[in-house]
Amino acid sequence: MSEQKICLPEGIEVIDAPFGGFPLLLYLLRGKKTVLVDTGVYSTPEEHILPWLEKHGMTPDDINQIIITHGHHDHFGGNFKMYTSNPEIEFMAHEMDYEWMEDHQKHFNEMYLSYTDQWYPDDAYEKAVIDFSGHDSPITTVIKGKETVIDIGNGMTITIYHTGAHSPGEILLYIKEKDCIITGDCIQVRGTMNESGIGTFPLFVNVEHYIDALNKIKELNCTCVCTAHTGILTREEANELIKESFAFMLTHQEHIIDTLKKAEKPMALHEIVKELHGKYYQVYEMAYQIHATTHAQCQYLKAKGILKRVPHNGKLLWSIK
Ligand SMILES: [Zn+2]
Repeated sequence: MSEQKICLPEGIEVIDAPFGGFPLLLYLLRGKKTVLVDTGVYSTPEEHILPWLEKHGMTPDDINQIIITHGHHDHFGGNFKMYTSNPEIEFMAHEMDYEWMEDHQKHFNEMYLSYTDQWYPDDAYEKAVIDFSGHDSPITTVIKGKETVIDIGNGMTITIYHTGAHSPGEILLYIKEKDCIITGDCIQVRGTMNESGIGTFPLFVNVEHYIDALNKIKELNCTCVCTAHTGILTREEANELIKESFAFMLTHQEHIIDTLKKAEKPMALHEIVKELHGKYYQVYEMAYQIHATTHAQCQYLKAKGILKRVPHNGKLLWSIK
């Protein structure tokens, strides 16, 4: 973390909060108001946030706002613990994701059960997601629309852009005066590697929004780019990872097209995923992410007129046009 610190501007701090073998960074913005970005999983407050505050002579009473970048359990899972440690904290999240933070079973059902005829999570998978999510916890303020500006005092404003790529209500935070951006999980690159050597496949549920999010980060062109799972980046490092993210996305599209071109009959999503996984993506867990992203890519290629859906035994399958 030592060289990463060099890049962080004054007034922005990082809390290193790994969980279950995954890297995770949370950020603290210190204007007149103090704002925490994301709360990690259920155990993150006790393991990382509260000790960090104590070490820096602070308590949860010093935190005024918590902004959640998107509705996934590794970003909102510590909400309840933070809420009980200071009920005055204002919790903020985008209108398209906040219900997932308030109702974790809804989150599980609407996200992980989106393709139940193609991929079905077993009980252990469900338990892990629900456990990491902690208790249901309220969101105080719902962020609406494409762009919102919050003034936190001491010459610091946060511009919140809705990106909606990695989850429907995903946002990124731009702190203009500090030439800094907090990206959440907007830059997916090649997914996130667990210490165990198994990766989480890059997840974007809407390809056009993913392209827009990556271009937005490029356009803002900040000297400091703070990610959740890929460290704190310089402008050059961020541009490199954005390039890699585009490359991964395009190669994945080519693999889908290639698979369907060679297929003798139309294919279901899980058949495409199985083939791609076996050939190119064995390092990734065969779970929700690879199905969701492949589905989003198929939808995108259909809109481009490259793929089509054909009915087969009462189901719609994928085929090349
Ligand atoms: Zn994440």
